[in-house]
Amino acid sequence: KLYNQVQDLKGSIRVYCRVRPFLPGQVSSCSVGSIDEGNITIITPSKSGKEGRKTFSFNKVFGPSATQDEVFLDTQPLIRSVLDGYNVCIFAYGQTGSGKTYTMSGPKNMTEQTQGVNYRALSDLFKLAEQRKGAFIYDIAVQMIEIYNEQVRDLLNGLNVPDASLVRVASTMDVMELMNIGQKNRAVGATALNDRSSRSHSCLTVHVQGRDLTSGTILRGCMHLVDLAGSERVDKSEVTGERLKEAQHINKSLSALGDVIASLAQKNAHVPYRNSKLTQLLQDSLGGQAKTLMFVHISPESDALGESISTLKFAERVS
Ligand code: ADP
Ligand code: MG
Repeated sequence: KLYNQVQDLKGSIRVYCRVRPFLPGQVSSCSVGSIDEGNITIITPSKSGKEGRKTFSFNKVFGPSATQDEVFLDTQPLIRSVLDGYNVCIFAYGQTGSGKTYTMSGPKNMTEQTQGVNYRALSDLFKLAEQRKGAFIYDIAVQMIEIYNEQVRDLLNGLNVPDASLVRVASTMDVMELMNIGQKNRAVGATALNDRSSRSHSCLTVHVQGRDLTSGTILRGCMHLVDLAGSERVDKSEVTGERLKEAQHINKSLSALGDVIASLAQKNAHVPYRNSKLTQLLQDSLGGQAKTLMFVHISPESDALGESISTLKFAERVS
């Protein structure tokens, strides 16, 4: 059964939409009309006072009550295929505050139940590698990088380098420790006014090498877990200098990512990988036999309606 699931996902692009709940103390009307299976309906007010409705369809839509467990259940087959030698990219897209980091890592005060995709993916990999011990020997190593203004920074040693350090790991605990180091390095240079984490892409890459003990064959797979920069548009008339430069870089790299995935989805002969650092770095894991999963995040408040619609349009284009 697992084998079939894996085959189904071969060289695939899936798009999941996730709507976060209202946050404690948030008072606002809701822009989401209904959610069922793969459909989400957005309510748009019109000038005449009459409501409009628009429905978008994806592989799956997770509503505000979906748990981390439920979200991971639909991600799991993809992660398992890394051990079979496939390359996998998982992206979290959405405006700042829509729940990208919650999905990928979890909330600030994390419990086992609220752990995100990163932790669950790694612990699954170790569990499966252990189960296959008699047949395969696996070597697992991780890298953590940040892309800010089209510059790559190694989050495990804090330096700007072309090749990020690769660290061998033997357990989920090892990875947790590395992720903490990465988080600390990410915070360096960030001030209260300049929360860099929402304006940079962060990428945790897991390299898996498996040796088949009977045939001696080597399988190589890798998985990229990417928490993207906030997709919100900034008003060009209101920002200057550094902030404008950041916004332009984010804009450019998110549209380059959208262009790459859209052209893969349409099976175009030419895929424009060269237009951003992000797509260049992930080139080997986007397209071909690789599997891509994009989580698009929606904030439910009607204040966020404009951004939600542009997020859903982005997602519709890549699915
Ligand atoms: P982003 O990374 O997109 O900027 P966050 O993941 O930081 O957004 O989420 C913003 C806030 O909403 C955080 O306080 C986070 O804990 C909370 N949040 C996001 N998604 C959920 C969810 N599904 N359930 C409960 N709280 C959530
Ligand atoms: Mg975040």
